[in-house]
Amino acid sequence: MKNLLEVENLKVNFRTKKERLRAVRGISFSLKKGETLCIVGESGCGKSITSLSIIGLLPSNGEIAEGSIKLDGNELLGKTENELEIMRGNEISMIFQEPMTALNPTFTIGFQLREPLMIHKKMSKKEATKKSIELLEKVGIPNPVEKLRQFPHELSGGMRQRVMIAMALACEPSLLLADEPTTALDVTIQAQILELMDELKRQMGMGVVFVTHDMGVVAEIADRVMVMYAGEVVEIGDVDRIFNHPQHPYTKGLLGAVPNVDDEEHHLNIIPGSMPNLDDEISGCRFHPRCPYAMDICRKKNPTTFQVTSSHQSKCWLQEVTDVDRLHTTS
Ligand code: SF4
Ligand code: MG
Repeated sequence: MKNLLEVENLKVNFRTKKERLRAVRGISFSLKKGETLCIVGESGCGKSITSLSIIGLLPSNGEIAEGSIKLDGNELLGKTENELEIMRGNEISMIFQEPMTALNPTFTIGFQLREPLMIHKKMSKKEATKKSIELLEKVGIPNPVEKLRQFPHELSGGMRQRVMIAMALACEPSLLLADEPTTALDVTIQAQILELMDELKRQMGMGVVFVTHDMGVVAEIADRVMVMYAGEVVEIGDVDRIFNHPQHPYTKGLLGAVPNVDDEEHHLNIIPGSMPNLDDEISGCRFHPRCPYAMDICRKKNPTTFQVTSSHQSKCWLQEVTDVDRLHTTS
């Protein structure tokens, strides 16, 4: 199948007064229609920056230094703010962790749902209202007609999240970006929303890029998984490959990280040490200071991305030296 999204050698920098920080260091990946790619990694690995780059919403001190982002074959980089504005909500939508960042507190739910439909889909007010009611029903909101008249603050957190999903889906985007969209919700609502997104993905055939640090969520929804570490993609592959045959030591660490119920925030940090800061220039493999398998070459040379199977890659020198093992594990 043709790729819906193609990201090639994407490099994103952040300017500070003194220097230029390299937040994303030349990553490449692709996504097919109807596929969910989960981007995982610890805070600050570049996963959110990657999704914000795709939708053209980097913070003002961020800049795309190099690379290419193509949606359905069309280059997104270099588009004007106007052109991007048309694409947002139309071809690409984004769901954020905190619904209030996407909802305007001063307008009713109805107004906010109708607007994009009237602008992007050229619907009349009546058509847009009908479609809004359908959308609210689709995301499982009771009494949708009444909800259209309410303001965001009149709804619970879970309902607001559903409204935001309805908004994101209103124009039937071909690509949905979701950045930890369920982290702030309780477990039951989280499960309902994940199920709903999956169902809608199937019905509408959209591609989904889902950013999360929660491997439980990944297991639930991913078709493919991309593991990022310190601005680089260290492993990417089908979800069953990543869970059953992880190759990169960092991925193995993430999978071994058992959620610590007492310490939600740090539950991935049981890999000893912490991720380097953006301005730390580390020789060789950026994971080497934390890697239990680090070899001489790892301290000197940044690893090549090795092809483990046709759809599985790992950026680690172990792929080269354990060729024999690899044949055993992949056969
Ligand atoms: Fe560890 Fe070396 Fe692989 Fe980096 S390249 S993850 S240091 S074994
Ligand atoms: Mg983030």
